[in-house]
Amino acid sequence: MLSRKFERAKRDNPGLSDLLDELMQYLERQQQSGQHFFLPKLAAAKLRLNDGEAYVLLEVLARAGVLTRAFNVYCKKSGALLATVSSEDKLNDIPHCDECDEDHERDGLRLELAFQFPSARDIGMAA
Ligand SMILES: [Zn+2]
Repeated sequence: MLSRKFERAKRDNPGLSDLLDELMQYLERQQQSGQHFFLPKLAAAKLRLNDGEAYVLLEVLARAGVLTRAFNVYCKKSGALLATVSSEDKLNDIPHCDECDEDHERDGLRLELAFQFPSARDIGMAA
């Protein structure tokens, strides 16, 4: 099912087809090695693109339904990863920060955009 969406994304973006193939291979390797979140800057370094270009490619896949967006949520003070949420509206239930021993408000958090393969549950919700 994902591969059909991927083929469609390539068809819709013929100029990006080779790069999308390279990106997809990279993402699958990452996934196999236990990395479930893909960051534009890491993909950029791997594919020798700039961050903006890698972001555009990841966005193409997100729009095609091959990937979904997520946010890694960090404590701004300590840099600890507190949670990963699927949208910014979910920032209300960020777990207690053990590093600072407090519940951070939005301005104490740093967000990092990431992408992931959709979980079975997300696919069900999108249908
Ligand atoms: Zn903290």
